[in-house]
Amino acid sequence: MSKVFVITGPSGVGKGTLISALLERVPDLELSVSATTRPPRAGEVDGREYHFLDPEDFERLVAQGEFLEHATYSGNRYGTLRSEVERRLGEGKSVVLEIEVQGARQVRDAMPEAVQVFIAPPEPADLRRRLQGRGTDDPDAIEARLETARRELEAQDEFAHVVVNDEIERAAAELERIVRAELGLESSER
Ligand code: ADP
Ligand code: 5GP
Repeated sequence: MSKVFVITGPSGVGKGTLISALLERVPDLELSVSATTRPPRAGEVDGREYHFLDPEDFERLVAQGEFLEHATYSGNRYGTLRSEVERRLGEGKSVVLEIEVQGARQVRDAMPEAVQVFIAPPEPADLRRRLQGRGTDDPDAIEARLETARRELEAQDEFAHVVVNDEIERAAAELERIVRAELGLESSER
């Protein structure tokens, strides 16, 4: 049984961190590589973290209907290519989408069977600390992300599952339990 899992929540909450842990713990689960017009950060590789596209190429794919969902976030375009999801489902794999809230809503409409998980911070102030600690965004970009985060946090009641990322190990275990239960897999020994 393959499924699509949508993992959403504000920037800096720890989505990427928890998804890395999840992918190590659950077999036959793969992350969909999104497309974006955001420039690569140091260490990011085209085709691995994202498909990095020019704005013109991104909009051409939108017009061609190639995206399952797409959104503008902090001035850049982000989207899930249908091909990324369909190829993995075709191989019998389950797929994780790490996307922001507008995109998660679009997936809810297009694919109501997808499992939606919102990752929440223990306190809103943790987001600033984590974004500063990650060190990938300049102060203006962090402020823009925190402004968006305020609206995203208000949306958490829309989601079937909410996982508070207080401690990585505990939150990763909770996320793993949700995913294993949805896939009908035995719970792990951890
Ligand atoms: P997102 O993908 O949601 O933007 P990241 O996974 O990049 O967030 O995490 C943002 C920062 O917070 C990273 O530096 C990460 O190491 C740190 N972090 C993640 N989870 C926790 C946690 N439970 N407690 C403290 N720091 C965390
Ligand atoms: P970042 O620039 O930090 O990599 O991502 C910014 C935001 O865009 C994050 O909330 C991330 O989850 C979201 N994002 C990444 N890929 C996609 C996507 O394909 N679609 C949507 N809607 N959001 C995405």
